[in-house]
Amino acid sequence: MEPQRPPLLEVKGNSELKTPLVKASSRLPLPGSRLKRGPDQMENALEPAKKRTRGLGAVTKTDTSRPRVPPLSTVSQTHGQTTGAAQKVPKKTGPRCSTAATAVLKSQKPAPAVPAQKPGTSAAPPPVVTGKKPGKRPAWDLKGQLCDLTAELKRCREKTQTLNQENQQLREQLREAQEQAAALGAARSSLEGELGSVRAQAEQGRQELESLSARVLELEDRLGTQEGLVQELQKEQSELQEERRALAARLEEQERRLQVSEASLSSSQAEVVSLRQETAAQAALLAERGDRLHGLEMERRRLHNQLQELKGNIRVFCRVRPVLAGEPTPSPGFLLFPPGPAGSSDPPVRLSLSRSDDRRGTLSGLPAPPTRHDFSFDRVFPPGSRQDEVFEEIAMLVQSALDGYPVCIFAYGQTGSGKTFTMEGGPGGDPQLEGLIPRALRHLFSVAQEMSGQGWTYSFVASYVEIYNETVRDLLATGTRKGQGGECEIRRAGPGSEELTVTNARYVPVSCEKEVEALLHLARQNRAVARTAQNERSSRSHSVFQLQISGEHAARGLQCGAPLNLVDLAGSERLDPGLALGPGERDRLRETQAINSSLSTLGLVIMALSNKEPHVPYRNSKLTYLLQNSLGGSAKMLMFVNISPLEENVSESLNSLRFASKVNQCVIGTAQANKK
Ligand code: ADP
Ligand code: MG
Repeated sequence: MEPQRPPLLEVKGNSELKTPLVKASSRLPLPGSRLKRGPDQMENALEPAKKRTRGLGAVTKTDTSRPRVPPLSTVSQTHGQTTGAAQKVPKKTGPRCSTAATAVLKSQKPAPAVPAQKPGTSAAPPPVVTGKKPGKRPAWDLKGQLCDLTAELKRCREKTQTLNQENQQLREQLREAQEQAAALGAARSSLEGELGSVRAQAEQGRQELESLSARVLELEDRLGTQEGLVQELQKEQSELQEERRALAARLEEQERRLQVSEASLSSSQAEVVSLRQETAAQAALLAERGDRLHGLEMERRRLHNQLQELKGNIRVFCRVRPVLAGEPTPSPGFLLFPPGPAGSSDPPVRLSLSRSDDRRGTLSGLPAPPTRHDFSFDRVFPPGSRQDEVFEEIAMLVQSALDGYPVCIFAYGQTGSGKTFTMEGGPGGDPQLEGLIPRALRHLFSVAQEMSGQGWTYSFVASYVEIYNETVRDLLATGTRKGQGGECEIRRAGPGSEELTVTNARYVPVSCEKEVEALLHLARQNRAVARTAQNERSSRSHSVFQLQISGEHAARGLQCGAPLNLVDLAGSERLDPGLALGPGERDRLRETQAINSSLSTLGLVIMALSNKEPHVPYRNSKLTYLLQNSLGGSAKMLMFVNISPLEENVSESLNSLRFASKVNQCVIGTAQANKK
């Protein structure tokens, strides 16, 4: 705590101001203009007074015990009063002294800010007055006045000293303050610099903040999207987990099954191994049996053929059709079927026909007894014979065709004797009445099927033509050619080839009954169309159904092939020479001559073959020309001679039977299978 200073006015006279007015601290720097004034100047200003004082001598005791006056505080605080007092002083103390005091006082203009000292806190003791307050000296008391002045001078000096010290301190403070200010300035500029950089940083920060907030917004956006995505993915994940669980369950189930399967597989594998061994053994056995079977099959063929040969390569069967409704019943004994050598259990092979010749009379005028004509054939079928019985007899021949021997089956007889019935069957599609052609084919298909088990593969190609007046027509023609009978020619299949083929005719591969049925139906239609154009041509023409059979045993490299021919010959009846020949009859005569010619050629060919003549007249008719590969040699031939049961047809029946008997007497070579 600064020691309390007495107010400056006390220097002049304590009477004017008893209480110091301390309002501001003396520590604050004084204004520069005043600070410029150094202590020397002040000293100088006070100098006259000093001198005067010295001159007067130290009569006034200075109270040094008083506390030191703080450097400016009092001055400033008491400025107003001091000035006022100082102004009064010259009037009282004279010009010199008042000038000096004024100078001192002027140099101590009040500081602008002096720390205020609260009245309450100014516990300083009242100013100590050194000596008794001088009363107003009389003008004459110069000594007293001088004394007062000296005392005052002394106080002033002390004051000056104090002020100098204060000044010194203030200077110190000023310097410190300046240094502080400079330091503060430097600090300020650095702070300003810093502030600038901080501002720049702040600006940059703000921009960064802006961009960051934009980025934040964008990121928030993305976050939103990502969150949506995440939710979707989570959902998907949960679904997938669910699926995975289900799959895992299934997998487990499958694995369990797999284990079971593996177990059964391993047992099966063991079984397979043993089965393989068994199979190998059986295969060996099978091969051996196959060899044996093949050997047996070959033996069967040989024996079968031998049997057929023993039966004869040319066989003749006689079939008598029943009397149809509306036909006159023949007289008893007209046709007889004597039993075979072994009795009635034997199938009949003989036929006896009795003919009463009206032209022959006896001498007694009685009609001559009927003449019996006995015929013997390989087999005779009386009127009641069924179709299947008939087929049974020829089934062996069909087997021969499969074995590779050409086969020809003819139906010979007058018109209405039952040739077509025998070959194709009865009307209405009754299976019981099916003829030889459908039965033979069904038999072939089933035997071929059986033979496939022995390694044989068979294929069948059918053709069906009719020969009318020495012209060949296709009965399987379809479309525009249907029924028109575009002419066909019989040609060799190729140069040097023995095989014959009919040009413009259809050759249709068949493999089942249905196909054969369709072909027979088509042939019937074709014949029906022709019938409207030319009266009853069907009975005046030969129908030739040919089936080319090809068999192959690939494993053994065997092949066999042969044609099976089923021929429904034209009516063998002759034209009644007694009939008047009109224009129609002339045509009929030409037809008949053609038929008779071809039929007699057939007979001649068979004879020539039988007699082993060097020339066989195949070329004399289209029929024999077409069938030349199925006649003779290894071929087997069967002729049905169809007979009408009617007495009115006896003459034609006899003719047919005689022709058939001639054929039956023929023996054609030794049959040889067409093995390639
Ligand atoms: P063809 O062909 O020789 O001229 P069909 O075969 O046309 O003679 O026979 C003449 C008629 O006699 C036909 O109505 C036929 O159904 C019938 N017919 C022929 N043979 C028999 C038979 N075995 N059983 C029953 N009817 C037959
Ligand atoms: Mg017929």
